[in-house]
Amino acid sequence: MSDRDSESDIRGGRLAAEVYARNFADAHPPLAPNQALIESDRCYFCHDAPCIQACPTQIDIPSFIRKIATGNVKGAAHDILKQNIMGAVCARVCPTEVLCEGACVRNDQEHKPVVIGALQRHATDWLFDRQIQLFERGPDSGKRVAVVGGGPAGLSCAHRLSMLGHSVTVFEAREKLGGLNEYGVAAYKVTGLIAQREVEYLLEIGGIENRLGQRLGRDIVLSRLRQDYDAVFLGIGLGGVNALGVDEPPVGVFDAIAYIEKLRQARDLSQMPVGHDVVVIGGGMTAIDIASQVKRLGAEDVTIVFRRGPENMSASSKEQAWAQTSGVRIKHWARPLRLLARDGMLTAVEFEQTRLDSQGRLAGDVDKFIIAADMVFKAIGQLLIKDGVDGNTDVLEMRSGRIAVDAERKTSIPGVWAGGDCVAGGQDLTVVAVEDGKCAALSIDRHVRAISKTEARHG
Ligand SMILES: Cc1cc2nc3c(=O)[nH]c(=O)nc-3n(C[C@H](O)[C@H](O)[C@H](O)COP(=O)(O)OP(=O)(O)OC[C@H]3O[C@@H](n4cnc5c(N)ncnc54)[C@H](O)[C@@H]3O)c2cc1C
Ligand code: SF4
Repeated sequence: MSDRDSESDIRGGRLAAEVYARNFADAHPPLAPNQALIESDRCYFCHDAPCIQACPTQIDIPSFIRKIATGNVKGAAHDILKQNIMGAVCARVCPTEVLCEGACVRNDQEHKPVVIGALQRHATDWLFDRQIQLFERGPDSGKRVAVVGGGPAGLSCAHRLSMLGHSVTVFEAREKLGGLNEYGVAAYKVTGLIAQREVEYLLEIGGIENRLGQRLGRDIVLSRLRQDYDAVFLGIGLGGVNALGVDEPPVGVFDAIAYIEKLRQARDLSQMPVGHDVVVIGGGMTAIDIASQVKRLGAEDVTIVFRRGPENMSASSKEQAWAQTSGVRIKHWARPLRLLARDGMLTAVEFEQTRLDSQGRLAGDVDKFIIAADMVFKAIGQLLIKDGVDGNTDVLEMRSGRIAVDAERKTSIPGVWAGGDCVAGGQDLTVVAVEDGKCAALSIDRHVRAISKTEARHG
């Protein structure tokens, strides 16, 4: 155990300004125009392209790549954004290795897919740099829809509804729109102001009113929204965090999501406090991101501890490799037993090894070990906070702690749709949230137009 543990030394300013800048520079810099042409030339423009099937928003990938190859970059951007209005951020954050690029036939021959994500970024950046607006609001339908949550799911829903002529009010608890694109995704994936630029592009369509600082359950309730609007979409993400299940000392234990939120909003990275020895508990993208980022903020020793094997981590193998190249150690098959503290300050974590028992259940082993730590991050999953989501008489059906929806993203409450991380059965990815919002908008459109026709028939 370290001899530094007699007093807490969790602080910022561990690195020189240029090192912070280097450590948080764009993780995957953009393609130069000639590189984009060379890469687009590698595409076979497959019939029944597997990359399209692997894209949750079904972007016509060969079509947009062909347009880049023939110099029609605006057309390429249109192919992307008409399917996925958040295609600029998705180009940076999608785990393409398990989606489109994972399915690319080039893997079979050359073990190297067409770099679809980088080409998508090339086209959408080109469009944003030239401030070309491709979408316009449809003729006014006279219908009003409330969207709760201004993250990828809510904004995608709002944009599609506006394209279809409906008036949308977005109720967002925070002071900025964008959800985890703005407050959660790792800083080196979404450098500069790309998340806000994308939100501004999307809102330019018009017909979308934003009510910021409005939280469902505190400032608004679902039953009232149902009375006031023709339909409601819930895209509230997952606001709560799971507990560690062990006693926590007052100093040294942090919630990874809350810390990342501060990091993403920090104007000066040297203000972000980090310890010397950091332990991250979890196995998903949040665990990878917090570990990689605190290491890049100057923590000396960073270890992710996950209770199962590498193949069970929800972070992809590319994400795991990224953490390791950032200098993070990953230990598998262990779970925390006790947090050790002195004078109320964390000094170490005691773990027990884990294994699968004869029935395939996770079990503790006799072997134990201790890792010195002055900072522990909880990254063991998030929970839905469903304050204010029940109607007066109708109850929102839940599945596995999240909102149950059908294929059209309809909930059990009439006139209420939901999508993104708050619904059951998703993959907790930005691109999936965007697709949910789009699907829900199309379903809401059918619903409100059908009501209009019925009303017209009955005079
Ligand atoms: C640390 C971290 C890193 C990630 N990295 C990636 C990545 O690299 N790639 C990737 O594809 N995915 C990543 N994800 C997942 C991705 O960010 C989410 O899947 C996606 O943001 C879900 O969108 P959403 O709109 O459902 O929810 P959110 O993005 O969470 O947005 C929900 C919005 O609703 C608002 N809200 C919540 N409750 C209320 C309420 N009661 N009333 C009003 N508003 C409310 C919130 O403030 C927020 O703006 C990451 C997630 C985390 C936590
Ligand atoms: S699978 Fe690969 S080669 Fe085929 S269309 Fe998609 S990107 Fe091009």
